[in-house]
Amino acid sequence: MQDCIFCRIAAKEIPAQAVYEDDIVMAFPDIKPMAPVHVLIIPKKHISSLLDITSEDVPVIEYAVKAAQQIAKSMGLAEKGFRIVVNTGNDGGQTVHHLHWHVLGGRPMSWPPG
Ligand code: 5GP
Ligand code: ZN
Repeated sequence: MQDCIFCRIAAKEIPAQAVYEDDIVMAFPDIKPMAPVHVLIIPKKHISSLLDITSEDVPVIEYAVKAAQQIAKSMGLAEKGFRIVVNTGNDGGQTVHHLHWHVLGGRPMSWPPG
């Protein structure tokens, strides 16, 4: 997907400071952070949204969870907690149509979300 910004980040065509990377997923800081820690976890493979995950993509979920655990530990979020968000579709506020998990932390999160 040449026109997909996250595919281009995964292919290292657009620079991003990886805070976690393995064969299946990578994670890097959001360009417009909404919290002191705001990291995006993406599958290296293009998947448009959570609705497009199929049974063959189960490793993506497994590795994204593993990435979130490691990021929480390495970025000091594990003790106080953090939030994971997967915006999906228009009402969900999804603006980049390549599946991603927002990992937000470093401050208390309010509920309900906006
Ligand atoms: P969404 O709104 O789809 O849930 O989240 C997309 C996120 O990607 C936004 O928080 C936005 O700031 C971030 N983003 C968009 N373009 C780039 C980019 O080129 N680099 C990085 N690091 N983040 C980006
Ligand atoms: Zn993509």
